[in-house]
Formats: sequence, C-alpha cells, structure tokens
Amino acid sequence: MPKIAVYPGSFDPVTNGHVDILHRAVQVFHKVVVAVADNVNKRCLFSPAERVALLREVLGDDPRIEVDTFSGLLVDYVQRRGATSVLRGLRALADFEYEFQLAVMNRRLAPAVDTVFLMTDERYFYISSSLVREVAALGGDVSQFVPAAVERALRAKHPG
Ligand code: ADP
Repeated sequence: MPKIAVYPGSFDPVTNGHVDILHRAVQVFHKVVVAVADNVNKRCLFSPAERVALLREVLGDDPRIEVDTFSGLLVDYVQRRGATSVLRGLRALADFEYEFQLAVMNRRLAPAVDTVFLMTDERYFYISSSLVREVAALGGDVSQFVPAAVERALRAKHPG
C-alpha cells in the first residue's frame, strides 16, 4: 500500500518553509497531496486558483507531489484521497498549541488518520505567509523567503 499524506493549508502564498517541508515529506511518504483550503471565511490575498498555480509552478512536475483544492472537513477529504496521514509543518513553539488542538480534534473525528509533523530547516523557522504578505505590501524585499515565481506574483499584486 503506498503511503499517502495530505498537506493542508492556505498557502497564501507558498513560501520557502512550505517547500522545505514538502522536500522532507517525499522522503517519508510515497505521495503527498498538497491541499489548498478553499475557505470562504478566510480573506486571502490570492484566489484558490492562483495559489494552486503558484504551487504547481514552484514544485515543478515531481510525480510524488500533487496539488489540489479542498473544502469541507479535512478528515473527509483525507479519507476520500486514500491517505492515512495529515502532514503539518512545525516552526517555533508558537505553532504547537494550535497544531496540537487540530491534531487531537482530527483524531477524534477520524481515529485512523494520524497527523505527522515535520520541522523545517531553522533558516525558515520565522517565515510565515502572513508576514511575507505584510512585508511585500509595504514594498519590502521578500526574495529570501519565497520562490522567484511567488515574488513576481506578489509584485504584481502590489505594483509600485
Ligand atoms: P494554515 O492557514 O492552515 O496555517 P499555512 O499555509 O499557513 O496554512 O500553513 C500550512 C502548514 O505549513 C502549517 O502546518 C504550518 O505550520 C506550516 N508552515 C507554514 N510556514 C512554515 C515554515 N516556515 N516552516 C515550517 N512549517 C511551516
């Protein structure tokens, strides 16, 4: 049985931290499905289609990685995809409490689905999509935090 993980998130936009987690994950799983949350309640800078297109451009055509969107309950999507694990990234301690709650809730909803955490390289510990969006909106240089395609897309959103 191939081991499949679902890596859910907003990816608004994808950062070097996300990419690092994915490169680590394909060493552990046969396949990783990057699942872009199509969450109507969350105000995003990039539309789901834009976030998917950026991920595909950045990740290239690695047969071990698929990019998709999902809405509704994560554990339902995970089971529909034939996956057994939810993949999440951990940065500093600040992520822990929220991620812990989420993992326990998902385990209650679907005991067969486990959450697996991977840690990024410490170079990416402080990177978050929200900080990248803020810096880019204020005209700052985000080239060390995101792939080149994302930097271009951010510049197009904030011309001048
Ligand atoms: P969400 O809105 O679900 O938090 P994100 O796109 O912000 O979506 O994050 C998706 C996952 O990637 C989360 O598990 C988050 O902790 C992780 N992540 C985001 N940035 C980094 C980073 N720099 N290093 C490690 N993990 C990260």
